Amino acid sequence: MSDQRIGYAFQREVPVHASADVVVIGGGPAGTAAAISAARCGKRVILLEKSGQLGGMGTLGNVSIFMPIGNVTGIYREIIAETLAQYLPEDHDKSIAPQYSPFLLRHYLNEKMKKEGVSVYYHADFVGTLHEGRRVSAVVVSTREGLRAFEGSQFIDCTGDARVAIDAGVPYVSGRDEDGLTQPMTLMFMMQNTGKPVTPVLPEGCYEYNDVSELPQGRRLYWERNNDGTLLVNMTRVKGNGARIEDINYAETEALRQVFSVANYLQRNGFETYVLSHIAGQVGVRETNQIAGLYTLTEDDVVGGRRFEDVVAQTNYEIDIHSPDGKKTTDERKVSGYDIPYRCMVPESFDNLLVAGRAISATHVAMSSMRVQPTCYALGQAAGIASSLAIESGRPCRDVDAAEVHGKLLEQGVRFKK
Ligand SMILES: Cc1cc2nc3c(=O)[nH]c(=O)nc-3n(C[C@H](O)[C@H](O)[C@H](O)COP(=O)(O)OP(=O)(O)OC[C@H]3O[C@@H](n4cnc5c(N)ncnc54)[C@H](O)[C@@H]3O)c2cc1C
Repeated sequence: MSDQRIGYAFQREVPVHASADVVVIGGGPAGTAAAISAARCGKRVILLEKSGQLGGMGTLGNVSIFMPIGNVTGIYREIIAETLAQYLPEDHDKSIAPQYSPFLLRHYLNEKMKKEGVSVYYHADFVGTLHEGRRVSAVVVSTREGLRAFEGSQFIDCTGDARVAIDAGVPYVSGRDEDGLTQPMTLMFMMQNTGKPVTPVLPEGCYEYNDVSELPQGRRLYWERNNDGTLLVNMTRVKGNGARIEDINYAETEALRQVFSVANYLQRNGFETYVLSHIAGQVGVRETNQIAGLYTLTEDDVVGGRRFEDVVAQTNYEIDIHSPDGKKTTDERKVSGYDIPYRCMVPESFDNLLVAGRAISATHVAMSSMRVQPTCYALGQAAGIASSLAIESGRPCRDVDAAEVHGKLLEQGVRFKK
């Protein structure tokens, strides 16, 4: 059809709903920590979250286990102390991997934001940026009352997908260098031990798996750490990039089919007394977009245990790449520990925008290690502090003094390994 439109110009007068010193977009691990740390620096903070809950993949995606990163420090340590005190190590440089209730974390984060004085807007889905030169002036958000603008002095993109940065024009890459393929998606679910035999369920259209080799990941991967009969299962796998429309559409239905199929397999193979008790409301997305920042974290940095003057987070979580090309393999390689520099969160082209969480500037291999929740909390905490310092000093984010960031991180309970 030759007269088919290829697009529409869309112009609207959008009312300003609220303003703050720091506007954080995305309420996952990075976003909640960024909001808390900026508020603790005395800033007025707005946190915009597209769903009805905070915690990101840790609650929405039911990734309800914190992977070990070689330290328990800062806001992450506080969360452990306040919700999982039995796991709190005495020192900051210890590893823990606690399984938790995503429902309790969701409630905890709601209450925490109230205590910290953060203005949270739920069901506030980022739509676009308004910017003049090198400064973002507002973000347009789809709310329950239509489009609204939120103004700020500083913006922190914690959407996981770098949605804000990309909309503003920040360059980015996705996936592996050679073909752009990202890690696959997984719909997490839980099963509950009923203590008595149950009848396995297999809805129409699902698969009957009879051998481990037939399972989507070719392996069993689950945790039952809390003696309460809750089994957390990470065994589905769908190829695709969760930031693409067609890929996520396919993943939501295919992953649900796999959930019922895996649960049915487990009910016949070792978990005869377990029922399916919870399925995350959305498929979990591991990897989508990485911004081009002032520095890009590389595989060499991760493998070589590189240290940086402007360190803002430390981790020794392994390289952990679920096969991006539809295979059942996972590339897992232990690492001894490395630093993540502040510059990975700073886009070159803007003065008042940072990107925290899994979408920082990192290669495909490096992000596979830095992407876990405790590290994203650490990055968010540093981003909230750096944004606050940028306001106080009147400097662009790129010129915020690393020593001052370190001073504030120390005040907020962060300890780095030398
Ligand atoms: C299947 C799976 C298993 C994993 N296993 C583990 C594990 O065992 N342990 C571990 O520690 N980590 C694990 N991870 C990694 C970890 O969960 C994520 O990498 C981490 O949550 C990323 O944090 P984040 O804050 O960058 O982003 P996210 O957790 O993705 O949070 C982003 C937030 O931004 C919101 N948002 C997105 N777009 C918009 C928008 N347009 N407007 C407003 N808000 C928006 C989202 O709703 C979400 O709340 C796993 C991840 C997946 C997907």
